[in-house]
Amino acid sequence: MRGKHKVEPDETANFKFIGDMVQERTPIRKAQTAEGHAVLALYFYAGAADVAAETGEQELIDALDRLWGNVVNKKMYVTGACGQTHHGSSSHVDMIHEGFISEYMMPNLSAYNETCANVCNSMFNYRMLGLHGESKYADIMELVLFNSALSGISIEGKDYFYANPLRVSHKGHDPGNDTEFDVRQPYIPCFCCPPNLVRTIAKISNWAYSLSENGISVNLYGGNKLATKLLDGSKIQLKQETQYPWKGKVDITVEKAKKEAFDILLRIPEWASGSKISINGVGIGEGVVTGTYTTINRKWKKGDVITLDMPMDVKLLEGNPLIEEVRNQVAVKRGPVVYCVETPDLPENTDILDVYLPVQSNLTATFKPDLLGGVSTITGNLKLRKDTKEGMYTEVTQPTWETSEVQLVPYFSWANRGASEMSVWLPVVWE
Ligand SMILES: [Zn+2]
Repeated sequence: MRGKHKVEPDETANFKFIGDMVQERTPIRKAQTAEGHAVLALYFYAGAADVAAETGEQELIDALDRLWGNVVNKKMYVTGACGQTHHGSSSHVDMIHEGFISEYMMPNLSAYNETCANVCNSMFNYRMLGLHGESKYADIMELVLFNSALSGISIEGKDYFYANPLRVSHKGHDPGNDTEFDVRQPYIPCFCCPPNLVRTIAKISNWAYSLSENGISVNLYGGNKLATKLLDGSKIQLKQETQYPWKGKVDITVEKAKKEAFDILLRIPEWASGSKISINGVGIGEGVVTGTYTTINRKWKKGDVITLDMPMDVKLLEGNPLIEEVRNQVAVKRGPVVYCVETPDLPENTDILDVYLPVQSNLTATFKPDLLGGVSTITGNLKLRKDTKEGMYTEVTQPTWETSEVQLVPYFSWANRGASEMSVWLPVVWE
């Protein structure tokens, strides 16, 4: 039925469930851009990818590739979150809510990023991984899971966010509605996000590995044990031991394997340049390329240990220059985890909007087992601007700075220490 309804010019006002809002304007095979309610859109794409996996229809796969590219390259946040606005309009000027707006229009304070939309983004990517077998899809699954999905639930697991903005300031953006909060809620009347997130967390073990033609691929890293069968029916058992994502070393022990040679594929994330793989302590040399799966084909035996070592450097990211909302700002990322500055880690009465990040701030990571359930924090010398500006526009004067050693925490862990202000993107001091 999609795309069959002819939308009249005045029909889409007042958030009627019509047009782009419900994926009704454009048939998916003709869709060029991701439109409408982000949850409805991404579930729709995930369902279409399931159909394509069964039928192999190229026109549908081409459309999904196009839509995936549009989401990931033009409408997705650095946390993997989707759905830039609570209320807005689509490219065809249909009124939409909780949805996609223009390309590169990525507000931070008012970002909506419904937990469900972020979770759906990982579900869509899991299906695209099944269609194409390319690691870039698992990279997005991981990005979402560690950041914009996990931010939806408290460390204790009892309270939930519906919206996941990238900046919260108590001075600005007070939406005053029943889905946007600055502390997680034990009960949300619009009840989709909490169960959607917890069922996804419960299901992640099913996403960690995939079967390939003659072997198995490791999509996600984390301590686990696997007991399953390859496609030829032979039994395989693996044990994965790691402190990932806080440490980049992953040991995978073969506990049971068939006698004949088969493939074990390891995902080398796009960010993990310099990664090394060894088998029983002997490096495999060439062939470890970021943004791909490394395929190791050999006769495996019980007790073989594959070690993947991913460098966990602290990295500063900047946005495409077309994203006006993050021009001259940077985000801090280590491995798959995006970080933020939160007011409990700032000198008292510091306004989150006055925190700047010098590009030479010597950021270092430390694992803190007793903080926020056990996380690695990142510490560096940040600059706090002390000359407060009032009014909409004021004449530029030389800023007054105070330097302070500040700890950044993983974005997913913010708002676990009471009501706070937070920012992922920080204005940069280029020095
Ligand atoms: Zn939801």
